[in-house]
Amino acid sequence: MTPATLFIDGRWEAAASAGVREIRCPADGTPVGTVSEATAEDTERAVAVARRAFDDGPWPRTPAPERGDVVLRVAARLRERKEEFARAESLDTGKRVVESRIDMDDIANCFDYYGKLAGQDAGRLVDAGDPNVVSRVAYEPLGVCGLISPWNYPLLQAAWKVAPALAAGDTFVLKPSELTPHTAILLMEVLDEVGVPAGVANLVLGAGPVAGAPLAEHPDVDLVSFTGGLATGRTIAAAAAGTVKKVALELGGKNPNVVFADADFDAALDNALNAAFVHSGQVCSAGARLVVEESLHGRFVDELVRRARGIRMGGPFDDSADTGPLISAAHRDKVTEYVRRGVEEGAVLRCGGTWGEGELADGFYYAPTVLDGVRSGMSVVVDEGFGPVVTVETFSTEDEAVGIANDTRYGLAAGVWTQDAGKGQRVAQRLRHGTVWINDFHPYLPQAEWGGYGQSGVGRELGPTGLAEYQEAKHIYQNIDPQVTGWFPEREG
Ligand code: NAD
Repeated sequence: MTPATLFIDGRWEAAASAGVREIRCPADGTPVGTVSEATAEDTERAVAVARRAFDDGPWPRTPAPERGDVVLRVAARLRERKEEFARAESLDTGKRVVESRIDMDDIANCFDYYGKLAGQDAGRLVDAGDPNVVSRVAYEPLGVCGLISPWNYPLLQAAWKVAPALAAGDTFVLKPSELTPHTAILLMEVLDEVGVPAGVANLVLGAGPVAGAPLAEHPDVDLVSFTGGLATGRTIAAAAAGTVKKVALELGGKNPNVVFADADFDAALDNALNAAFVHSGQVCSAGARLVVEESLHGRFVDELVRRARGIRMGGPFDDSADTGPLISAAHRDKVTEYVRRGVEEGAVLRCGGTWGEGELADGFYYAPTVLDGVRSGMSVVVDEGFGPVVTVETFSTEDEAVGIANDTRYGLAAGVWTQDAGKGQRVAQRLRHGTVWINDFHPYLPQAEWGGYGQSGVGRELGPTGLAEYQEAKHIYQNIDPQVTGWFPEREG
C-alpha cells in the first residue's frame, strides 16, 4: 500500500502518482521506511492550499504573540519527543545518535527563539521631518514560502526556515531532502498537535528537480528559501527569476581554519579535528581548509594525522564510534574522486583515502583524510568536498594568512587560532566570511545571523534577520493635514 506521508491541508496523503521511495540507513543499508514520492502535481496542490491558507485563513491574521505561543509549544513538544526524533534522524542520515540528540536540542532552541521573538518588533515610527505626517513601517507576513532543505542536518536546516516562517505568519510548503524525510514527517505531526491551522504547514517528499522545482517556479510562491549545494542554488535562483520571487540561499562553503604559531596547541589541534571531521565532514561550515603558520606546520600536521588515524567510524548506535558514514554510495564515490583528483594534482595523502572494511563494508564509510602540501588553485582547495577531507596550506605572515583564507568563491565560515587577542580581532575583521570563530569552531547561536558572503549564499538565517526574511516591510505614510500642493496649476484645457 502507498504510505500516506505527504501532509497537505492538514491531512496525510499518498502521492497522486502512488509513487514510493524506500529509505535505507547509510550506516549498514537496513531499511528504515517507505515514503510517498511526490511529483510536481502534489507540490502544485500543496502550493494552492498554502496560497488559500495565506489569503483567506486565520494564521497571517492571528496576533503575532499568539503565533509565538504556538511556536513555543512546538519547542516543548520536540523536547518531549526528543529521543524518537533523534533516532529517526540517525537512521536516515547514519549520524551517531548522540549527535542527533544535540541537533534536536538545537532545533527546540530555535523554535523557542522565534516563538519569543514573534511580535516583539511590529515595526517602527519614522520621523518624516513634518509634524503633519505620521510615517510608520509595519512588518507583515510575506506570503507563501517554498522551503527546500538538505540531508546533512535534515530537521535543523528545515527548522531554521519553519520556525521564523510560522512566527512571521506565513504559510509554507516544505520539501526536505528525498534521502532524509522522516523527521520532517514527525515535525508535521507536532505542528498539527500544537494547533497550527490546516493548510499553513504542508509537506511534500520527493526528488528535487521533480517535487522541489515547482516551489522555485510557481507564481503563487512568494519566497523560496533553499539550503543545499551551489549548483542547485544557481538552478533555483534562475528558476525563481521568472516570477521575481524573493530568494534566500544557504549554500556550501570551503571554510578556512587559520592556526597561528602562538595558538594554544592542544585546543587548536582538537578543534581542527572537530572542524574537519565532525559528521564525517558533511557540514556546510566544515573547516576543510587548514591554513597553518609555516613554523608550526610539521608538528601540528604530524599530530593531526596521528589523531585522524585514531578516529573510529561506526553506526548511529555504536557507542565506541566517533563518526558515522557518508550519506550515500553516490556521495562516497564523489568524495573518492575528489581525493583522487587532489592527489593527481600534487596533494600529499597523509592518511585516509580509504573506505570502511569488515563490519563497516555495508555502509558508506570513508576514512578521515589529510591532504598536505596543497596550493591555491588545486581542485581540492577550490571545490567543496563535503566529506572527511582536510587540506593543508601554510603561511608566514598575517597578511598572507588573510589572503589565503579569503581566496575562495565561498564565504560561509572561518576559524582563527591565536592567543594574541588583537591579532584574532584584526584577522576576524578582514575575513570575508559570514561567521568567524576566534579560538573555537562550529558553535552557532539562534540569536546570531548565519549565512554566507560570496557564493555561499544570499540572505541570512537565524537572528532577527532570519525573521525579517519572512516578512514584508510596508511603509504607511499618512498626511494628517492634507493641502492643495498647486504642483499642477489650475488652467482651462
Ligand atoms: P542539494 O543541493 O543536492 O539538495 C538540497 C535540496 O534541494 C534537496 O531537498 C533536493 O531534493 C533539492 N533539489 C535538488 N535539485 C532541485 C531543483 N532543481 N529544484 C528544487 N529543489 C531541488 O544539496 P544536498 O546534497 O542535499 O546538501 C549538501 C549541500 O548543502 C552542501 O553543499 C552543503 O554545503 C549545503 N549546506 C549548506 C548549509 C548552509 O547553512 N549554508 C547548511 C547545510 C548544507
